[in-house]
Amino acid sequence: MDGQQSAPPPEATQIEASGSTTELTATGEPERWIDLQFTWAGKPFTLSIAETDRIFDFKAALHKLTKVPPERQKILGLTKTNKLPPDQERIADLRLATGKKFTLIGTPEGDELKELENLPDVVNDLDRDFTEDPAASAAYRNDQRNIRKVKEATAALKPNLIHPLRSGKKLLVLDIDYTILDTKPLTSGSLPPAECARPRLHEFLEAVYPHYDSTSQTSWMWLETKLVELGMIGSLKNYQVLLDKTPMFTVFTERDGKPWTHSVKALQIIWNHFPQFNATNTIHVDDLSRNFALNPKEGLKISAFKGAHTPEAMADRELDKLARYMNHIASVPDFRTLSHKDWKSVVRSLPRPDSE
Ligand SMILES: [Mg+2]
Repeated sequence: MDGQQSAPPPEATQIEASGSTTELTATGEPERWIDLQFTWAGKPFTLSIAETDRIFDFKAALHKLTKVPPERQKILGLTKTNKLPPDQERIADLRLATGKKFTLIGTPEGDELKELENLPDVVNDLDRDFTEDPAASAAYRNDQRNIRKVKEATAALKPNLIHPLRSGKKLLVLDIDYTILDTKPLTSGSLPPAECARPRLHEFLEAVYPHYDSTSQTSWMWLETKLVELGMIGSLKNYQVLLDKTPMFTVFTERDGKPWTHSVKALQIIWNHFPQFNATNTIHVDDLSRNFALNPKEGLKISAFKGAHTPEAMADRELDKLARYMNHIASVPDFRTLSHKDWKSVVRSLPRPDSE
């Protein structure tokens, strides 16, 4: 994006600099793309896939072309066994010749809205703190495929500006699911939406508004059907930008010697669209540390909000603490000098506010 050229800060250039060589692999060779041909339901298709892509990306591309979801895809003629390697394997390892033909068999899904089933944070099984492991984070950032994903997602993202961005504000990237609401009873309909919001949500958004422009990632469908019912229409006045899920993508690594796949939220995609924001003035609040994998220093992990309506959940005051922390640091000129890891001890060290 154009914005990247306008005096990016040192940390933002890290990805940008690598991004400018996206077409070259680490060895300086051009990234190789393979053109494949396949038939499905009697119709011919063509598909281009990069060698740095993973099997996961191949299945996703087939899904996009045919609406056959990965779990229903049967692929004949591409490999000797007619089986694909695990999702994390690289396309290069298949050693495919360009022009290779195969057959896809599988029933497409209907046009039913999958959005709610695909909420990424529903399974909070394994989290990982990347501030403890900068090498793992750097490996993600320098992965050829991930660099390209950032570029692709930047091009695909169409941010919805609700209110104009204000000059001189910091940026709050605020997770929704299990950060500002309990997604489970909301999705299942077991609780009225207004009772799924984290306590003090509106007060939090009001409190940080003087210093922060806010953005969350959600679909318009989700917003219209749920957030409006949550009573967040009032809170939308404190939002500047809503993003769809484009800035999230899936990454592949290993954990304890086994393949490990998870989603990340790449702040660079947001920064590419809004170049006044960068690592010096952005904070990303989320209940999952692994979402910070590409930008561990900007992440602030908040406890997950679950069990809405129980006495414990009603007593949750994390958002009050968060507002105090964020306003405490708001005058710091460069957020890169901070670590948000011990944000709660910082809050404990602050004088108690008069009105609480
Ligand atoms: Mg979440």
